[in-house]
Amino acid sequence: LSQENQQSLSAYEWLTKLYHHLLRYTKDGKEGYKYFKDRGIDDETIDAFQLGFAPNVKDFTAKFLEKKGFHQQILVKSGLLSLQQDNTVTDRFRGRVIFPIRNHLGKTVAFGGRTIHNQEPKYLNSSESELFQKGRTLYNFDLAKRHIRKTNEAVLFEGYMDVISAYQADVKNVVATLGTALTESQAKLLKRYVDTVIICYDADRAGIEATYKAANILQDAGCSVKIANLQNGNDPDSFIQEKGADAFRNEVIEASDTFITFYMRYVKKDFNLSIEGDRIQYIEKVLRKLATIDSSVERELYLKELSTEYNLTMETLLNEISKYRQEIG
Ligand code: ATP
Ligand code: MN
Ligand code: MN
Ligand code: MN
Repeated sequence: LSQENQQSLSAYEWLTKLYHHLLRYTKDGKEGYKYFKDRGIDDETIDAFQLGFAPNVKDFTAKFLEKKGFHQQILVKSGLLSLQQDNTVTDRFRGRVIFPIRNHLGKTVAFGGRTIHNQEPKYLNSSESELFQKGRTLYNFDLAKRHIRKTNEAVLFEGYMDVISAYQADVKNVVATLGTALTESQAKLLKRYVDTVIICYDADRAGIEATYKAANILQDAGCSVKIANLQNGNDPDSFIQEKGADAFRNEVIEASDTFITFYMRYVKKDFNLSIEGDRIQYIEKVLRKLATIDSSVERELYLKELSTEYNLTMETLLNEISKYRQEIG
């Protein structure tokens, strides 16, 4: 590790502790504490995730760290201070609750900060640095790792609060991307630890689109993919807070769909199945996807579904799919 990176880690460590202390024990952080309480997060969870509060003062962080001997230049590079047009610096995180983002070793390498007064943007992250690349980081991977190993499954969320609520509800094999689409690098990281990834994104339009993309990336990385069964409009955190931990485990996670079931439903929207030409294209598209499944038993189960639904013989479907399997090789 370069000396600069060591100093950057050290700055993040100081600040993680400071912001957490402010939130937990002081008047200055009280509104942050109240924010998490109102969202149903208890003290034990606040401590486990080292949640914190950055006061709404423009040089609070800068002053604190400069007093500790850190150079401004390093703090700017670490994404903690922003350089202004007149070359002065200002704290990047002001008046926000703070989610420390830890690397796989449990060291804070960045912060996510959420406004508690409806300001824009809702979430703000540290800028990227040598120590923090969004596309290579999964939130909570360090704490989730042993649970992921134990269950041989990982649950993938969109956001910080989804992870934190699930963890508090004792579903601990949980990680999240950081406000961007899942990358190949994140998929490969997961594949090193699990066979199955359950995607549990928000049940809104954006979430469903992102699910489709993430599912394909995970499948390409060799994961077996399932899709959690969240009802319309919900996000995992709001579901857990409203309906409780048991409902989340039983009705959402345990009731996950296979990727193919999701896929068949998802691609249907692009076709008008009452038109024959569309119907043929739809079935061919599904067959192409089914051809990528390695288990012949699993393939046959889906083919039976198609055969019944579209009144086609199994022979026809098997013939067709074997062509696609040859193409894949
Ligand atoms: P909350 O429940 O606190 O309102 P959320 O997690 O449900 O937040 P979403 O809008 O679903 O919020 O976004 C999912 C995730 O995407 C967030 O947790 C955050 O990590 C990231 N994100 C959202 N908006 C932004 C933004 N403007 N900049 C950076 N990251 C963002
Ligand atoms: Mn969302
Ligand atoms: Mn959400
Ligand atoms: Mn939410």
